[in-house]
Amino acid sequence: MINYDESNGLEHNGAPLTLKEARACWRENTLQKWEEEWAKMGNSQWTHSLFPTVGSRLKLRNYTPNFWTTQAITNHSVFRGYLASRGRIIDEDKSCPCGFGTEMAEHCLLECPSFTDGRPMDWSEVTNDHLQYMRRTVVKLWEIENPHFTLRNVSKEE
Ligand SMILES: [Zn+2]
Repeated sequence: MINYDESNGLEHNGAPLTLKEARACWRENTLQKWEEEWAKMGNSQWTHSLFPTVGSRLKLRNYTPNFWTTQAITNHSVFRGYLASRGRIIDEDKSCPCGFGTEMAEHCLLECPSFTDGRPMDWSEVTNDHLQYMRRTVVKLWEIENPHFTLRNVSKEE
């Protein structure tokens, strides 16, 4: 526990700390709590398979979540399996048009023969290549679900 008083400044277990050391200690403690909370969450198996630890997500320092990749990472929105579970498609058909599974993120990104173009082989660690593949795949799914959809107003890199 980090303490502060006006005469001694910052200290940890009685030892003086610089502000830089205190920040590092706070960060480490926060990350540890975050990891514990993440490990306890059981309702997002797909997301956990992509990011088994908070640290595995934080490795992607330049990644900013966006409309497209968030759908792939959370298994929500465009996937027919998700839409059907929310009563948002009329025919309630969860099947992927390929005929080999339920249209959910895991199927589309890892197994579906319709989305093999640029699919990474190794999914043991999510990289920027995986995120680009996720984005392209979700865009294709949007185009399938919304035939009049166009990306003309969306940045190609977003
Ligand atoms: Zn499929």
